Amino acid sequence: MSTDVVIVGGGVIGLSLAWQLAGQGRDVTVLDKQQTGREASWAGAGILPPGHSPGARTSFDQLRALSVGMWLEFSKQLLSETGIDNGYRHCGGLTVTLEDESCEAYRAEWMSEGVELEDLNGEGLRYHEPNLSEKIEDGFRLPNLCQVRNPRHLQALSTACRQRGVDLRCDEPVEQIMQADGRISAVKTRSGSLSADQFCFTAGAWTGRLLNASGYSLPIVPVRGQIVLYRTEKPLIRHVIEVGKRYLVPREDGRLLVGSTEEHVGYEKINTDLAIAELKKFAIKLIPTLKSVDVEKTWAGLRPMSQTGSPFLGLLPGIDNAYVAAGHFRAGLQTSPATALVMKQLMCGEEPSLNLQDFAINMTHVVESAS
Ligand SMILES: Cc1cc2nc3c(=O)[nH]c(=O)nc-3n(C[C@H](O)[C@H](O)[C@H](O)COP(=O)(O)OP(=O)(O)OC[C@H]3O[C@@H](n4cnc5c(N)ncnc54)[C@H](O)[C@@H]3O)c2cc1C
Repeated sequence: MSTDVVIVGGGVIGLSLAWQLAGQGRDVTVLDKQQTGREASWAGAGILPPGHSPGARTSFDQLRALSVGMWLEFSKQLLSETGIDNGYRHCGGLTVTLEDESCEAYRAEWMSEGVELEDLNGEGLRYHEPNLSEKIEDGFRLPNLCQVRNPRHLQALSTACRQRGVDLRCDEPVEQIMQADGRISAVKTRSGSLSADQFCFTAGAWTGRLLNASGYSLPIVPVRGQIVLYRTEKPLIRHVIEVGKRYLVPREDGRLLVGSTEEHVGYEKINTDLAIAELKKFAIKLIPTLKSVDVEKTWAGLRPMSQTGSPFLGLLPGIDNAYVAAGHFRAGLQTSPATALVMKQLMCGEEPSLNLQDFAINMTHVVESAS
């Protein structure tokens, strides 16, 4: 069987790209080893931080800023195509100092990027969030921080992809990559082989391992993150509240996510008693009334961490029809719209909206990680 484009991995990156390419009239097939959108993209908290293109210092900041400008329209478009509300909301965020974990470095970073920010003392913080602990005295507000509900976004994306004619094939792990004459000719799954003009590998934390089978190993490793979910009758907070790398994310229906850990434990996607206890303790320090609230659920996901510090977006060196978009670590949801846009542009021979040099894969990456 043959198609225009095969995308390997149907997480938020693969599905957003499939949606973009199908919008250009391409025949697209997405292969996933299970149901689409059930790995990191499902597990994530859906925090969409603000951005500011003119102040963006790094290529990654540019990618985030480009995405920030796309989320509202993208969500409206998905709603009109599918009738599914992905939960994109302009909720705002508070970053606070908790005990010895200061918010000062984060304040300085946002300010140097020129992102709108409001300094707050304890009284100001509790004006916005009356349930915040009386012990918290320092912080700031990011009025333009937003959020999306990952499972709903993924559901909207896969529905929209199908409606645009994308062939979404679940339970079809790619087992082998066939090469001939400096190109990928086909990928093999247990139900046969599939050839295409172009291939894009968007297999998240599994991307390096998958490419390894063809002698290409990208330095992308899994980093486990655990989440605790509380549920209350009414929301206890409205803003996302962040302390360093940990956070509380409120949903409109009273659910409250508490995250997260960063654990280098390979592909072991489980919860541990210790991490869950620490996340609960953290949440109660911020919102003491959570002490009497039951936990509804816990889960874990594997973030795809690129060891270069940036995701890989571009061609595999030496192969002129194989692309990679992977390694987004803690930011794959927030940067997915712009990632899909620039990858679509690259794959369709258009000038990308961003300079992708800092995301390019060079021979050193693949050789060093393979050896
Ligand atoms: C706890 C947690 C909290 C997070 N919070 C946020 C947040 O608030 N904001 C944010 O922006 N990001 C967040 N992230 C990060 C974000 O979720 C990831 O960066 C993003 O989901 C990566 O998307 P992906 O499509 O590359 O990978 P994935 O979603 O992991 O998708 C990869 C897909 O490839 C498939 N696959 C793998 N191997 C094969 C194969 N051999 N053949 C076929 N298919 C294959 C998998 O089944 C999977 O569906 C969080 C992540 C975690 C775990």
